[in-house]
Amino acid sequence: MEPETIKAVISRTHAEILAHAEELTDLDQAIGDGDHGINMKRGFEAIAAAADTIAELPDGKALEKAGMTLVMSVGGASGPLYGSLLMAMGKAMPEEPGSLGDFAGAFQAGVEAVMKRGKSQGGEKTMLEVLLPVAALLSTADSLDVEAVRATADAGLASTKDMKATKGRASFLGERSMGHLDPGARSSALLIHAVCDIIEGK
Ligand code: ADP
Ligand code: MG
Repeated sequence: MEPETIKAVISRTHAEILAHAEELTDLDQAIGDGDHGINMKRGFEAIAAAADTIAELPDGKALEKAGMTLVMSVGGASGPLYGSLLMAMGKAMPEEPGSLGDFAGAFQAGVEAVMKRGKSQGGEKTMLEVLLPVAALLSTADSLDVEAVRATADAGLASTKDMKATKGRASFLGERSMGHLDPGARSSALLIHAVCDIIEGK
């Protein structure tokens, strides 16, 4: 990607996180410790601060650097988890990615890294409820249908509402975690929407 494109992705995702930080915090207040908005804000602020350096790197290295920045700047669970996602995506990205398959393969590797890091899987009311179905859609698609990607992310997010959390802080609530959306699933959907918007030139 051109440095300008990488910078656009960073500034757009950062802006979306800023605009929704309060919402993420409110969701985390209901079933966690109320810091998800702050954690995401801190992480994306650190990435934005390093944007000039990151943008000069090849795509894979840029993703790795962004992931490392999240791991280093965010204290909560979401920093290492999103950090693992981006670092593994970066490692799996071919030197000159061009096809949907290149991106889908890298995203799949990233999601697998989240599962490994979090010792988690689908159905546990986490960000994986959004990440896993989007990875599956991308891996099987012949062409990129951004509307389908958005709808898949939204359906995954909605599915967290009636789930009982069995991983992360929300699992301490047991049954009482039900009836609330998962904050990490919300931030994943938010970031996926932001990338879809950029792809569509919005
Ligand atoms: P913390 O839980 O340390 O306060 P955050 O509030 O920033 O960190 O992030 C919470 C989100 O992280 C949850 O809503 C969930 O989506 C995600 N999460 C937590 N633990 C796991 C895990 N083991 N696997 C996958 N995602 C997880
Ligand atoms: Mg939290």
